[in-house]
Amino acid sequence: MTYVSASEHSAESEFLDLVDDATASVVDVGSVWRLLIVDDEPDVHRATTFALNGLSIFGRPLEFLHAYSAEQATAILREERDIAVVLLDVVMEREDAGLALVKVIRHDLKLTDVRIILRTGQPGYAPEIETIHAFDINDYKTKSELTRAKLYATITAALRTYDQIRALDNLAFYDHLSRLPNRNRFINLIDERVSLGEYGDVVIAILDIDDFSEVNDSLGHQQGDRLLQAVSARLTSALGSATVVARIGSDAFGLMGPSSSIDPIAVLELFRSPFRVQDDSMMVTATLGLVSLTDTKEAGRGAIKDANIALKRAKKNRRGSFVVYTLDMGIEIRERVRLLQGLRSAVDTNRLFVVYQPQVLLSTGAVVGMEALLRWRNDDGRYVPPERFIPLAEASGLIIALGDWVLRMACHELVRMQAIGLPSLRVSVNVSQLQFRNPDFVERLVQAIADTGVEAASLELEITESVAMEDPEFMLERFAAIKAIGVTIAIDDFGTGYSSLSHLRQLPIDRLKIDRAFVNELSSDVLGGPIAAMVIELGRNLNMTVIAEGVETEKQAAILRQMGCHEGQGYFYSEPLAPPELKEWLLAHRSGA
Ligand code: C2E
Ligand code: MG
Ligand code: MG
Repeated sequence: MTYVSASEHSAESEFLDLVDDATASVVDVGSVWRLLIVDDEPDVHRATTFALNGLSIFGRPLEFLHAYSAEQATAILREERDIAVVLLDVVMEREDAGLALVKVIRHDLKLTDVRIILRTGQPGYAPEIETIHAFDINDYKTKSELTRAKLYATITAALRTYDQIRALDNLAFYDHLSRLPNRNRFINLIDERVSLGEYGDVVIAILDIDDFSEVNDSLGHQQGDRLLQAVSARLTSALGSATVVARIGSDAFGLMGPSSSIDPIAVLELFRSPFRVQDDSMMVTATLGLVSLTDTKEAGRGAIKDANIALKRAKKNRRGSFVVYTLDMGIEIRERVRLLQGLRSAVDTNRLFVVYQPQVLLSTGAVVGMEALLRWRNDDGRYVPPERFIPLAEASGLIIALGDWVLRMACHELVRMQAIGLPSLRVSVNVSQLQFRNPDFVERLVQAIADTGVEAASLELEITESVAMEDPEFMLERFAAIKAIGVTIAIDDFGTGYSSLSHLRQLPIDRLKIDRAFVNELSSDVLGGPIAAMVIELGRNLNMTVIAEGVETEKQAAILRQMGCHEGQGYFYSEPLAPPELKEWLLAHRSGA
């Protein structure tokens, strides 16, 4: 160690300790430093190894690899792992052979960690400063400049940087707790396979520990961490070296390997026996989503997304099971995402509007109300049915703002229609579960009434039967708050939600809407529509108004009337209408009142 002073040395070994700490057992940093000498002159190879012979740097000996052309160097760099430094001749086969190789190293081979020291015999061939920066070249020296001492110092500096980069990589790419590759690293590893064209038979899986948050909550985070370590250990030892095991989320592991190693049934079997966690033994189950690289057609992030789609399906079916991704699943989900984006922009660009369907008294045909129904006309002029976009708006939370907007539009429209001479007209507005349960719902309702000047008593909310029957206590409270304002409530799609009659009786409901499926049955003479009859009778007994939706024929209207149904709505009377047509229709039918 003649080239390094004692104090410098101890600082360096301290550094080495730090690096060791950060990298320990995560990556095999190896016990040697690997240096690649690239030069077309054999003499230079001999002189370099002679100068550095027998030396060790930061306590590790040097190992030399030799290339005599850029082509040979490329082949070595492609094959060999953990080369720390390339000592590179600028001028070889061609004047720019060295610089061209630098580009290959950084761009094509994507070796970003390896340090590059350029050496040239002729001082005139210095690369531009920009080149040195762009290709992350560490040092540029003329060969005459590089005495033995200088060479040693230059290589030491390069190795120090290399090790720091490696340590940072480890922080960025490895999970601290399990010492496994993390999500970023997992994505890179998938990308590497894909870029090498190695699709065949490679399976990506996401393994999610079921109810892990409960373990954390009930036994504490430390115990949770230990369980994760035990799971990592079992996975790595059972799946073997052909399979990559990564920790890609708090309780989710990523697996990549040949389908023979990632057999979902065998993987789930690994959770059959308990995990030893300190003095306890713990049973947990896991759920798996898998995708084969040939099926996903996606690289890292996309492949994980697809495996996740499969995982979600599996969780939905049953915890402790697995689902293999198929292209259909992706198409369906991407279609939904596209539709939701379209819906968001439709909100922004006013491509949503509200139509109104008249409701009449069955006995006289007099108009009593109208139902507000949301419409979306796409960019290409086609309608997207509410059955498709309402569930999306619900799932994304967009329905809260959207529902609020429909409510206000409907109130405005009602005020306008009442003004043309229909003072007793009412409007009913569909309210989704999420919107109805929103803590601000009642406040927003009051605000909409105040802002639009509508009479509360002529506003009705339609809640579907299934929503009304959920969480009885909450519903009772919310219904009461709405009734207190003076707004009425209708139960939509009645007959489809398996109501508990006792709960139904407790709720302050004004109207029951018979689902159109039961109205439809009235056309077939065979069935005779017993459900419609039952609903009508039930409603009458509970002192509610009964309205039939989806009345399409005169005959249906007649039967309903006979059964004692009060009101009707459907194509037989009118389709849902845009405001100008609605106005016309209402004026024409006013005489019926
Ligand atoms: P819904 O509330 O049960 O609305 C009645 C549906 O029956 C409407 O379909 C209406 O166009 C349709 N309809 C009316 N008369 C007839 C008929 O004679 N025959 C048949 N076959 N159908 C008839 P639409 O407009 O497609 O709405 C479907 C569902 O979308 C609604 O069912 C409602 O659940 C939901 N929806 C519509 N607008 C909104 C809204 O603003 N907010 C919320 N939350 N949901 C809405
Ligand atoms: Mg409705
Ligand atoms: Mg309905």
